[in-house]
Amino acid sequence: MRFDLHAVIRPEVQAQVPYHTGPEPRPGRRVKLDANESPFALGEALRGELAAEFARSLADVELHRYPDPTARELRGLLARDLGVAEEQILIANGSDEAIQLLQMVVAGPGASLAIPVPTFAMYAIGARAMGIRVAEVPLGEDFALDAARFLDTLRRERPRLVFLAWPNNPTGNLFDPGAVQAILEACAGRDCHALVVVDEAYVHYSGRSFLPRLGEFPNLVVLRTLSKIGLAGIRLGILIANTDVVREVNKVRMPYNVNALSQAAARVVLAHGDIVAQWAAVIVKERERVLAAVGAMPGVRAFPSQANFVLIRTRRPGDAVCADLLSRGIVVRNFSRAPHLADCLRVTIGAPEENDAFLDALAATLGPGSDT
Ligand code: PMP
Repeated sequence: MRFDLHAVIRPEVQAQVPYHTGPEPRPGRRVKLDANESPFALGEALRGELAAEFARSLADVELHRYPDPTARELRGLLARDLGVAEEQILIANGSDEAIQLLQMVVAGPGASLAIPVPTFAMYAIGARAMGIRVAEVPLGEDFALDAARFLDTLRRERPRLVFLAWPNNPTGNLFDPGAVQAILEACAGRDCHALVVVDEAYVHYSGRSFLPRLGEFPNLVVLRTLSKIGLAGIRLGILIANTDVVREVNKVRMPYNVNALSQAAARVVLAHGDIVAQWAAVIVKERERVLAAVGAMPGVRAFPSQANFVLIRTRRPGDAVCADLLSRGIVVRNFSRAPHLADCLRVTIGAPEENDAFLDALAATLGPGSDT
């Protein structure tokens, strides 16, 4: 039987390159620093206590029933923590899903979105698949947001949606809050009307947020995730916005998008905000140590970071450095062929011993004789 798949798949989808999630995990000792996860599996000292609580909490989950479609209990906890109303919160299957829902509510003839580049790949991937035009605004020197150029693009393109990762992935920097504010204001003006998504996936490592400013900006949407603080496996993202925005986005969300086990696990961990903060503090300290150590090495530049990863640019070709690190058991994310990121690698901050292993491997990779 002959079947022409190309005749049925949308051209926008056929034109896309699949999202790359890194090498398949293989058995053996590997230091995994490629996906911006937390290295702490529920925090070593408290793992036992938390595990017992998890077991109790998960044992109560009624697996024969559909999960709570609106994650009411979880939203209640979050509303208290974040100082917003429950109606301002939507729970998603990872912030990836929240990004997709936002794309869905603006998609349609003539729809476009604006993003700085380089930034998180999913903003453009989902949009293109839905036929949304993507206006890319290159970042300036040291990956700073070029506000004038961005505002110019807004006037010309009139997008319906803007994504700003704050801090930005993969560059690690926090854009100037004044520039973000200027974009928020411009996107609620006569020339442009757009939702502005401030994606705070790395807020635990930056300590900065636009959440307190929701009252000022009716078009502001803040995204959070539990993926970067030790729960990447449960897939839980959080969208926070004004009630009207949340009501619209909820219309395109599938009713049971977040399963019952994930909701229960999130409730347990959110009840332990102090522990999450302790893990984050360790990572921030390690990040500064790694930045200083890489900064002192010849043949490599480390960009400042407010996230749980650092971007480095090597004098040797990035592909070769990456392969060399891999041969030494260190897995990092290779961006060296991505636009604007020639010879750049993104390295997630791991546990102290993992960071030591990375630093040793990098020094060996860049060491005398290899700097050609
Ligand atoms: N936003 C940003 C800026 C990210 O870096 C990531 C993860 N790489 C995500 C969203 C997606 O996170 P989640 O695991 O919640 O889907």
